[in-house]
Amino acid sequence: MRFPIEKFSNIDTPFYYYDVELLKKTLDCAKSEAGKYKGFHVHYAIKANFNPRLLEIISSTGLGADCVSGGEVRAALNAGISPEKIVFAGVGKTDKEIAFSLDNGIFCFNVESIPEIEAIETLAAEHNVTAQVAIRINPNVGAHTHSNITTGLAENKFGINYEQIDEVIDFIEKMEHIQLIGLHFHIGSQILVMDDFIALCGRINELQELLYDTRGIVLPHINVGGGLGIRYDAPDKYPVPDFELYFATYANNLKLHEGQQVHFELGRSLVAQCGSLITRVTYIKHGTCKKFAIVDAGMNDLVRPALYDAYHHIENLTSDKEGEIYDIVGPVCESSDVFCKDHKIAESKRGDILAIRSAGAYGEAMAFGYNCRELPKAVLSTDL
Ligand SMILES: *Cc1c(COP(=O)(O)O)cnc(C)c1O
Repeated sequence: MRFPIEKFSNIDTPFYYYDVELLKKTLDCAKSEAGKYKGFHVHYAIKANFNPRLLEIISSTGLGADCVSGGEVRAALNAGISPEKIVFAGVGKTDKEIAFSLDNGIFCFNVESIPEIEAIETLAAEHNVTAQVAIRINPNVGAHTHSNITTGLAENKFGINYEQIDEVIDFIEKMEHIQLIGLHFHIGSQILVMDDFIALCGRINELQELLYDTRGIVLPHINVGGGLGIRYDAPDKYPVPDFELYFATYANNLKLHEGQQVHFELGRSLVAQCGSLITRVTYIKHGTCKKFAIVDAGMNDLVRPALYDAYHHIENLTSDKEGEIYDIVGPVCESSDVFCKDHKIAESKRGDILAIRSAGAYGEAMAFGYNCRELPKAVLSTDL
């Protein structure tokens, strides 16, 4: 990626920089690859990045939205995403969030427990509407990813386990204001091996067969969730994820009934590579066994390294000197406020500008104000 470094010098750091051209290219690619298959629909997972200006761009490409809170449903609507393209998942939907979503006529609630179904029934009756729901199934498929971002194992809090599906369907059939329209799955995030998605397809096929054989049920919608990963190690080599392979994997492995629609909920893969956290070196500090580049961004601006041990490629945009090894750390009073240990970047000095790459997903969206720090600003390439 080429950064407009001369324009960065007048901007206060830290800030998120988004390359709008790359964002659009990525969205177009996902859309056209999904568009090769009949009945494939892509919903953008808002939680990856809910910056309203990015949401508008995403909305204008015609994608739907996957939301995990009432606030996200509101953000999707505000960005102009039509309610018929909004799905709402989450284990803890409150009455207020459900009522708001019913009022706005969203497409589908991905339901995760019987008490939640009861709450939706009560509210839908009060609002005199029928709520469409999909059962979020816990497929007990492990994703080869960090344990904090695995969601599809029996031990995780998400979804309904296989043994309970019959009970849940029986329960929904008794509801007067709920219509069961689909099955929903989501096994985790940052998944780069297609085998995990193939395993998920296998579980979905089994379940579809079982539902058909035992109850004669064919549901019109299958939502396979998101989770496609990106190459944090090589952002310039792989700026756009392999959407061709991803959608082909589902097309080749999912056994569908006539007319069934397939929904995808992609977050990270759509927005990660277009964003970088831009920060200045405040000090170079020589320890006894380490050299530290202390920067003005902290874990509060980008928490992924502290939370998931995540790697982000870092480069010095100002210096083209020989490489040196640094621990690149923030100013926050926590030992975990480290972006990268023993990382080689061009020899750096106070005032140099660094780019922490692949930060467009779960970066700005997870920022917080610890240590009375201001939230990071966002700059779009089209602003400059
Ligand atoms: C977070 C989430 C997603 C998006 O995951 P990515 O790894 O960012 O693609 C999709 N569906 C659900 C239900 C989620 O919670």
